[in-house]
Amino acid sequence: MDKIVKLFKGTIIHSVELEKVEILTNSLVGIGKEGIIVYLKSAFEDLNQLEDQVKKLSVEHEIPNECIVDMGNKFLIPGFIDTHAHAPQYHNAGTGTDLPLLKWLEKYTFPVESKFKDLKFAENVYSKVVNRMLKNGTTTCCYYATIHVEASELLANIAGERGQRAFIGKVCMDRHSPDHYIETTEDSLNDTKEFVERILSKGNPLIQPIITPRFAPSCTNLLMEGLGKLANEKKTLIQSHLSENKDEIEWVKSLYPGIESYTHVYKHFDLLNERTIMAHCVHLSEEELHLISEQQTSISHCPISNFTLSSGNLDVRKVLKKNIKLGLGTDLSGGYHPSILQVMRDSIKCSNSHFFIDGEHKPLTFEEAFYLATVGGSRVVNMEDRIGNFQVGKDFDAQIIDPFAPNTPIDVFENDTIKDIFQKFIYLGDDRNLSSLYIKGKKINF
Ligand SMILES: [Zn+2]
Repeated sequence: MDKIVKLFKGTIIHSVELEKVEILTNSLVGIGKEGIIVYLKSAFEDLNQLEDQVKKLSVEHEIPNECIVDMGNKFLIPGFIDTHAHAPQYHNAGTGTDLPLLKWLEKYTFPVESKFKDLKFAENVYSKVVNRMLKNGTTTCCYYATIHVEASELLANIAGERGQRAFIGKVCMDRHSPDHYIETTEDSLNDTKEFVERILSKGNPLIQPIITPRFAPSCTNLLMEGLGKLANEKKTLIQSHLSENKDEIEWVKSLYPGIESYTHVYKHFDLLNERTIMAHCVHLSEEELHLISEQQTSISHCPISNFTLSSGNLDVRKVLKKNIKLGLGTDLSGGYHPSILQVMRDSIKCSNSHFFIDGEHKPLTFEEAFYLATVGGSRVVNMEDRIGNFQVGKDFDAQIIDPFAPNTPIDVFENDTIKDIFQKFIYLGDDRNLSSLYIKGKKINF
């Protein structure tokens, strides 16, 4: 075993499979110097046994006292993974909730995104959004930036300085966009290449570029083709939108009359593979779902956004049955709330809404929503061997949750079990319950 440099003792809660949340009381997790989990021992019979083991480890590994964290009645959970968020749109979060997707883009979203050519404006919004995400326990985030290379790089720098794990995408759009917010095909491709190289040259393993065609209607065939090539050449992840809204689907049909479906459009341009994250996927046909599954493409489920923009309700159960990689996304600011806790709650409600129509539909449980927010997300970004839970060998991306913190929305009663308290946190908790945050073993200020 590698040397333990920091040891956490107390209750550890994480998912190991979709339906199973492990609640490990009287447990120990040891972190090595690279921020990797090198030791996990759970369920000591009593506190004496636990303390004996702490003493033994602290001598063996020369762990100083200040590096032994007694979590008391708090508990440890993995960091949340937001698989779909638009950083610039954070400026508008909580406003502009009165229009469906295409009108919403035109009236609220394109105007604010176009302002990010101004780096001062960008710095203000990007500092705030990264901070807000961290405050809400999001240790990994897939961000869309804007079409501007400098501002997109600034977002990468801010996330990097704050220690967040992030995929940053310079948005690409060379048609059907307003005059004040559009690129030429050539600029879009050159700028994306330049952006990818700049991000990779920083050498921060936590910050990765992600190829980001906004969605098929705003990219020409030439651009889609070029981005497919670039993503394959650089082996980056790809993110885009798919089948969010019925008008959008009709539009894509009219733009690509020769291609079988919206999903096939991305496949046609080599943008649908095991490194692709497609947001929404609300209205996919059986054939399209089958293609997603076959291509091992991931889906980011964004229920807050889907309800707010009246897009529709994804049948999560249908997606899970096909063994498609599925995670949760805030979709800021189509989704008005930056917290993955809120997304979990809405994912359960969204699943319940299917039960209203189909009595056979098995609604999502809170344990399953927690899995999607953590392990599910790690699979979406192809990092299930690195993050998502506390298995030995993974990076320590973690939140210490304090259900007893004063002035929070949780009241704990005498007979509440740890599972009850955990469930109360999932349904009622917020950023006030976050006591400490770690990314790759490093304590993060938020
Ligand atoms: Zn989106």
